[in-house]
Amino acid sequence: MKKILVINSGSSTVKADVFAVENNQPVFQAKALADKIGKADGSLTVKGKGIETRTVAIAGASIETAIREIIEVFAAAGICARENLGAIGHRVVHGGSKFSAPAIITDEITAVISEMSVFAPLHNPANLAGIQFCRAHFTLPQVAVFDTAFHQTMPAVATTYAIPRELSEKYGIRRYGFHGTSHEYVTHECARRMSIPYEKFSAISLHLGNGASACAVQNGKSIDTSMGFTPLEGLVMGTRSGDVDPSLPFFLQNMVGLSAADAESLFNKKSGLLGISGSNDMREIVSRADAGDAAALLAVEIFCARVRKYIGAYLTHGRPHALIFTGGIGENSPAIRQRVLTGLGHLGIAPDRQKNAALPEGGCISAENAIAVFVINTDEELMIARETLRLAHP
Ligand code: ADP
Repeated sequence: MKKILVINSGSSTVKADVFAVENNQPVFQAKALADKIGKADGSLTVKGKGIETRTVAIAGASIETAIREIIEVFAAAGICARENLGAIGHRVVHGGSKFSAPAIITDEITAVISEMSVFAPLHNPANLAGIQFCRAHFTLPQVAVFDTAFHQTMPAVATTYAIPRELSEKYGIRRYGFHGTSHEYVTHECARRMSIPYEKFSAISLHLGNGASACAVQNGKSIDTSMGFTPLEGLVMGTRSGDVDPSLPFFLQNMVGLSAADAESLFNKKSGLLGISGSNDMREIVSRADAGDAAALLAVEIFCARVRKYIGAYLTHGRPHALIFTGGIGENSPAIRQRVLTGLGHLGIAPDRQKNAALPEGGCISAENAIAVFVINTDEELMIARETLRLAHP
């Protein structure tokens, strides 16, 4: 059976995963991370089932060179020879309004991904570079899986900004939402664990990582999410502010002469947990907060308060079957989960402190008779591999 390669090419990293196909399901084999693309200290690490982890230097490598190296290392390590590859799946950040599902990549599809670069200038060009390299070097079916696609089911009330309509329509200004592949994966997994048919399943999904977003799913469809036109809106994140008064950039422009580019960088790269506490590493922030550091404690409190605010907002859609925690923070921090969930008994939410700390098998951490709360490890690569298998039939 042929193998599936999943590629996530970004501006500073290229990630690639190899899946075998067993019983018509993708099964993880190995992963590669090319870090610090274009930098002198760039490196490539490959790890996987039954192989020794290896790291090689890839100084100054472009996205294309990194993918070429990854494919060579996978072949040399006996993970996947070129001729064993059957299909390639690519993560694409922005599919605009055009894609509500993954698509087999054609010239037309690459043209649309390129058009969408105007909305995601940091991400789509890097995604496209990976796609174009693979299309030039392999005559294999390739599939694009879009971070925005899952949210295409959101109704106009959730996608429309209250700004002049002619501008929204002319420039495609609307709420798109991101992290769709992750929200879709964990909600499917939760519905499966609860034995509820997905088309009847409702949940509030909380992806809390360096990027963070909440998503309201009703009857197996995204009906609202906290990220909007770009991934900047919504929750407080590692380096992104999330929701702020939109006047802040104008105020800073007047006060300190901030340019549009400076403001974009400030709100995306220097704000959030980093801006409040000086660090965007939640592990470090929690331990500093525990040791009495006031700025770290405030960062934790603001992060959790914003998550609670979105939970409250999404509970207005009705009682969900479950709340789901995922992402690096959601999966690994009992302290943050406890703080998010405490004091919400009047809304039907109550964590079981012991289960939350010990994380039982199956991942359910709620008290009896409360809304179920699950911790589910996200796996966007597996989701992309599944979609690639479904569409490309390698
Ligand atoms: P990304 O959005 O870049 O994929 P991740 O989902 O890997 O990021 O999440 C990274 C975040 O998860 C970091 O803030 C990191 O500190 C946090 N994290 C990982 N493990 C823990 C832990 N045990 N406790 C608290 N935070 C954690």
